[in-house]
Amino acid sequence: MFNTQKILNDFPILTRPGANGLPLCYLDSGATSQRPNQVVAAAARFYTEINANVHRGVYRISEEATEAYESAREKIRAFLNAGSTREIIFTSGTTEAINLVARSWGAKNLNSGDRVVVTEFEHHSNLVPWQMLAAEKEIVLDVIPVLDDGTLDLDVYRELLKLGPKLIAVSGMSNVLGTIPPLESMIPAAHEAGALVLVDGAQLVPHLKTDVRVLDADFLVFSGHKMLAPTGIGVLYGKETLLKEMPPFFGGGDMIRKVFLRSFTVADLPYKFEAGTKPIAQAVGLGAAIDYLNLLGMDQVAAHEHELTLRAIESLQAVPGLTIYGPLGGNRGSAVSFTIEGIHPHDIASLLDREGICVRAGHHCAMPIHDRFRIPATTRASFYLYNTEADIERLCSGLKKVVSIFA
Ligand code: PMP
Repeated sequence: MFNTQKILNDFPILTRPGANGLPLCYLDSGATSQRPNQVVAAAARFYTEINANVHRGVYRISEEATEAYESAREKIRAFLNAGSTREIIFTSGTTEAINLVARSWGAKNLNSGDRVVVTEFEHHSNLVPWQMLAAEKEIVLDVIPVLDDGTLDLDVYRELLKLGPKLIAVSGMSNVLGTIPPLESMIPAAHEAGALVLVDGAQLVPHLKTDVRVLDADFLVFSGHKMLAPTGIGVLYGKETLLKEMPPFFGGGDMIRKVFLRSFTVADLPYKFEAGTKPIAQAVGLGAAIDYLNLLGMDQVAAHEHELTLRAIESLQAVPGLTIYGPLGGNRGSAVSFTIEGIHPHDIASLLDREGICVRAGHHCAMPIHDRFRIPATTRASFYLYNTEADIERLCSGLKKVVSIFA
C-alpha cells in the first residue's frame, strides 16, 4: 500500500500555504519535482561535512568527496541496470546531455544527406540541437507524426526507417500529451534498420522503471530535478562501445590524460565527458533521490501515479468545455494537458493559483505539438508520487469555479 501521508511528511514544502493562505496543491512536477528531506539532507551533509573538489586531492575529505560522487554514479548505474559506471556521464541535465550527443556523436557520424528521425511531440531540447546540426551539416530531419489520440503514427515510422536514418531521437514520455511510445518495438525496429536510438527520458525515468539493457537504447538522457534531486544535475547513459568512439564535447580539466602546450590526450570514460568541476553536491543529492525512489519501489510509484492520472482524466472530463490532449487511458504518463473552451490557459492557471493550485500554462517547450492540435497553449497538470486524490478533487473543483467565473 502506497502511504502518501508518510510521503508527504518528507516534503515540508507541500504543507506550506500557497496563494491566499490556502493549502498548496502542487501539480507541476512535469516542470520540476519537489525534493524530500532526505535529498536536501544529503546535499547539505555534503557541504557541511565532506565538501572538497573530487578526483584531485590526496587529502582525506577530497577522497571522501570523490567517494560520495562516485557512489552516486554507481547508484544511477544500478537504477538503470547499466553494465558499467563508464556508461554514466554526469551532465547538467537533459538539455546538455542531448547537445553532448548531437555535438559529439552527431558531429562525428552525421554527414550531408544523413537522416535523423524525431517525433512531433518532442520537447524543444530534443528538436533544436538536431535542427542546429541539420542546418550546419545538411542533415535531413524526418518527423513521426502524432495521431489525433496523441499516439505516434507508427506506419509512417516504418516508412521512415526504410530511408535508412542514422538516429531516432524520441521522448520516452511526452511532457505535454503523456504519451508513452512503444519503445519496446520501436527500438528493435530502428536497430534492424541500422539506426541508433536516443531516448529523451526526462519524463520517463522519474516515473517508470527504466532498464537500459531491456530497452536496448543506445543513449538515454534525463534530469535529476524532475525525480526529487537538486537542479543542475542530469545524466547521459550511453553504450560504452559508442561513448568510447565519441570525441569529447567540452575541453578542460578532468577530461584529459595529458596536456602539452599544443595537444592533449583524452581521459578514460566516463571522465572524458566531464570537463571542469561538476555539480558534486547535486550528484550526491541525485544518489539520495534514487535511494528514496528505490525504497518506495518504482513499480509502486508508477502504479500510484497511473491510478491518479486515470482518476484525474475521468474527473476532468466532467468539467464543461474541457478538452484533454493525449491518450485518455491505457499506458500513459501523468502529464495531463487540456484547454477549456473560451478561456485562455494562462487565465485558468492564474485563477487556479488563487485557490493555491499550481499548474503550468503555455507551450511547455513543445510548440510543434501545440501547432499540430492548432492551439497556442494548454494548461497542464502533472502528478508525482506525493500527489493524492484530494489534489485531483481540488483541481477539478477549482476548474469548475473558473468555468463559472467565465460563464
Ligand atoms: N525533455 C522533456 C521531455 C522534458 O520534459 C524536459 C523538461 N521539461 C526536457 C527535455 C528538458 O529538461 P531540462 O530542462 O532539465 O534540461
